[in-house]
Amino acid sequence: MNNLNKNILQIKYFLVFLFLFKICYSTKIGILSDTHWDYWYQNGADADKMCRSGKGKAGEFGYSKCDTPLIMLQSIETFLYYEDIDVFFYLGDALPHKFPDTNQTALQLVKYFYSSLINLTNEKGIPFFWTLGNTDYEPDGQMPAQKNSFYYLFADLFQNKFSKDSLLSIQKGGYYTEKFGSNQRIISINSVMLMEEDQAINLTNQNPADMLTWLDQILSEAEINNEKVWILTHVPLGAKFQSKHFTYRDDFNELLVKIYQKYYKNIIAVISGHLHIDSFRLIYDTTHTQPLVVNFICPASTYYVMKSYPSYRVLNYNDSNEEISNWIQFVSDTEQDNSQGFVNFYNYYDTKTSYGINLLTPKTIHTLLNEMKENQDYFQSYWNNVHEGINYDCDSSCESLELCALEYCLYQEFEICRNSTF
Ligand SMILES: [Zn+2]
Repeated sequence: MNNLNKNILQIKYFLVFLFLFKICYSTKIGILSDTHWDYWYQNGADADKMCRSGKGKAGEFGYSKCDTPLIMLQSIETFLYYEDIDVFFYLGDALPHKFPDTNQTALQLVKYFYSSLINLTNEKGIPFFWTLGNTDYEPDGQMPAQKNSFYYLFADLFQNKFSKDSLLSIQKGGYYTEKFGSNQRIISINSVMLMEEDQAINLTNQNPADMLTWLDQILSEAEINNEKVWILTHVPLGAKFQSKHFTYRDDFNELLVKIYQKYYKNIIAVISGHLHIDSFRLIYDTTHTQPLVVNFICPASTYYVMKSYPSYRVLNYNDSNEEISNWIQFVSDTEQDNSQGFVNFYNYYDTKTSYGINLLTPKTIHTLLNEMKENQDYFQSYWNNVHEGINYDCDSSCESLELCALEYCLYQEFEICRNSTF
C-alpha cells in the first residue's frame, strides 16, 4: 500500500471514530435544588427550635424537622465533585426556612454558598447555571422588580463567567440567558417575581423587570437560530403539592403556559425545584390533545418541610437526537448517615428501570401518565419516587388530586379535573 492510500485509510478511520463519538456522546447534567443550608444548625439541638438551640434529637447530618447542616452541605458538594458531569444546574433556595437574622447576614450567606458552587465547578472545569429561589432572598420571596444589592451581588459573582447582556439582565431582575455546547441555550428566569406570595410586585404589573417580554424575545431568537433551550425556573407551573392552590400568580401562570406552547419545538424541558418533591407538570396544546413541554420538578436537598431525604440528580441528554435519555436520582438516608457517622449517597432510582422508558419527552411522559391512570403499579412507581426514599400512603383522593396536578397546568382546567374526581 502506498503512502497516499495509507493516509486515505487513516482519514477514513478517523471520520468513523468521529461519527461514532457523535452518536454516543451525551451531556451529563448535575442538578441540585433547595439546599436550605442552616448556618445555625447544631448537632443535638431541639427540633422544635429548628435544631438551632436547646437539647433534642438533631443528628449530626440532619433531622426531618430541620434544614441542612453545613457538614451535610459539604458532603453533597463532595459527592457532586466526584460525579462525571459536564455542566451543573442549581435551582435555588440556598437559605434556611424561618431565617433568624438580618437581610445583610442573608446576603453574606448567599454569597458564601454560591461562591462554594462556583469553586466546585471551577475545579471541575464545567459551566454552572442557576436560577433564583424564594429563600435566596430575605424577606422570603419578596423579590423586587428593580435593581437592588441582591441582584448586583449575583452580577458581581458571575462577572467573569457570563456575557455582558446577562450581567445587565441579572442586575435588572435576576434573570439571564447563556449559550451552551454547540447549539444549546440556558434561559434562567426569576420565577420568584411571578409567585402569588411576592408582595413586592404590584398586582397590575404584568411584566416585572420586563422579564416576560424578554423571555418571548429570547425564545423567538432561539427559534430562528434553531437552538435547543433549557428553561430553569425555581418555581414550577401548576398546582402546589397535594393542594388546590397554584404556585404562580394566575395571570403569570397563564402567560408562561402560552409562551411554552408557542416555542415548544425549541424547548428541551423546563427544570424546576421548589416543591421539595420529585414530580412533573405536562403542558399540552390549547385543545389538550398534543403534549408539548414537560416541566420536571427536582426534589430538595433539605430534609425539612416534605420530610424527604437529601437528593441530587444526574441527567443524561443525548446530543445526537437532542432528547433527555434518562436520569439517576441519588439519595442519602439521613438516619443511617447519623448512625454510621458518615454520609452516603446511593442510586435510588433511574428512569429507565423505574418507568421502563428510554426517553423523557412530552410524548413518553404523556404515555406514562396514561399508564398511571389505568394501572396502579405505574402510579405506585411514581409515588415511590415523589418523596425520595420515604414512602407515604396515597389514598384514592390523594391519587386523583395528584393525577390532576400532573396533567393540568391551567387553573380552570385543573379545577374541572379536581371537581370531577371528588
Ligand atoms: Zn425550598
